[in-house]
Amino acid sequence: MRILIVGGGMAGWTLAGLLRRRGITPTIVERVGEYSRVGFWIGLYPFSANTLRETGGYDRYAKGSLAQEHYVMRDSEGHDLQDMSFAEVLGRIHGFMGGLQRADLLDILRDGGAGADLRMGMTVTALEQSDDVVQVTFSDGSTGEFDVVLACDGIHSATRTLLTGDAREGLTDWGYTAFTWWAPRQDAVANNCVEFWGAGGLFGLYPLADRINAIAGMPTPKGLSDMTQEQIVTAVREHFADYPEPVRTALAHAADDTVFPWAMVDHKAKEWIHGRVALVGDAATGFLPTAGVGASNAIKSAAVLADELGRADAATIPLALRLWEQRTRDRVEANQAASRTLAKMMFVKGHTVAKVRDTMLKHYPVEKVAKDVLHSNTHAW
Ligand SMILES: Cc1cc2nc3c(=O)[nH]c(=O)nc-3n(C[C@H](O)[C@H](O)[C@H](O)COP(=O)(O)OP(=O)(O)OC[C@H]3O[C@@H](n4cnc5c(N)ncnc54)[C@H](O)[C@@H]3O)c2cc1C
Repeated sequence: MRILIVGGGMAGWTLAGLLRRRGITPTIVERVGEYSRVGFWIGLYPFSANTLRETGGYDRYAKGSLAQEHYVMRDSEGHDLQDMSFAEVLGRIHGFMGGLQRADLLDILRDGGAGADLRMGMTVTALEQSDDVVQVTFSDGSTGEFDVVLACDGIHSATRTLLTGDAREGLTDWGYTAFTWWAPRQDAVANNCVEFWGAGGLFGLYPLADRINAIAGMPTPKGLSDMTQEQIVTAVREHFADYPEPVRTALAHAADDTVFPWAMVDHKAKEWIHGRVALVGDAATGFLPTAGVGASNAIKSAAVLADELGRADAATIPLALRLWEQRTRDRVEANQAASRTLAKMMFVKGHTVAKVRDTMLKHYPVEKVAKDVLHSNTHAW
């Protein structure tokens, strides 16, 4: 089977690794000429991490990630709202929530896909398909013929735009930006994901073994694209000035690193499958980071797709794509819905509404909001 993967990210390399193990050598085109280490904390749930057992990187993942112990929610004054033990909710299935740097996870997945026909610094500029084949034109002017094209080129997928003609289709801008940077570890955070939910702001601290990823979510400042790093750091510090420790210490370290503005945008494609071209991972359903489940869904969804493609031949690929969509779409979209519900709860603006939310949160366990995410670990895909 001639398989083209567009985009060498989480989904693309998962597919490459699993297809290689099924005797298929896919072609991958990746837009960047060289991978950077840009990226922060990624959480991986067991339903997705288990895929690494098959691609060969699980031990590296288990040693290189930090098992997150508790998910702790506080209000903006530091009062406890909730405390969920990951060991309690995931331990039953002998799994853990691993936190690691995105670049390290990508390294593990890339090693698993070694041997794929990789073309860096390249993308797809045109697609034309018949019932049996997809003709592809690449950015260097070369062409190729494939039995299937898997668009794994992320939330702003250019392949999707080639198919739909609409670069904005399915994208939702939530009006918030998460400013993120690395800060030193703090005893008050330990091995826990600690979040402070305020009015018009959320401050999260997500630990690795040697540092913490600080994320300051706030309404996108006007003129953000013209702001200097210094202005960004000042705006973030002012927004969270009244928050307690350990937020203050993390804020004090904001100027030590480049503060990266991460637009809170998600995406929901109308169609996942266009003939012999499928949208996979964020290209199909792109997540807000609020439930920490985007990478997990991309990897798991890619794993199910490799499974179905492994049982197909060139003629039956359209059936394999349909079976994959049937196995994954509802679950992925339910997880996206959970991320959106959490976002609506996090991103409330007024202090009165925030107080009502905080009171409710003391009695409404976050496990209920995230029940589909947790079910993803224990229910069939
Ligand atoms: C640089 C980067 C840093 C990130 N940092 C974080 C983070 O810190 N925490 C977090 O939770 N999530 C992060 N994400 C998002 C997270 O990795 C994805 O949401 C999730 O893993 C979904 O995986 P995916 O494979 O669908 O997309 P991605 O992992 O985003 O991979 C898409 C890949 O496609 C490539 N690509 C894009 N356009 C084209 C094109 N036209 N042609 C060819 N290739 C193309 C990209 O360079 C990238 O390698 C980051 C994504 C990127 C790209």
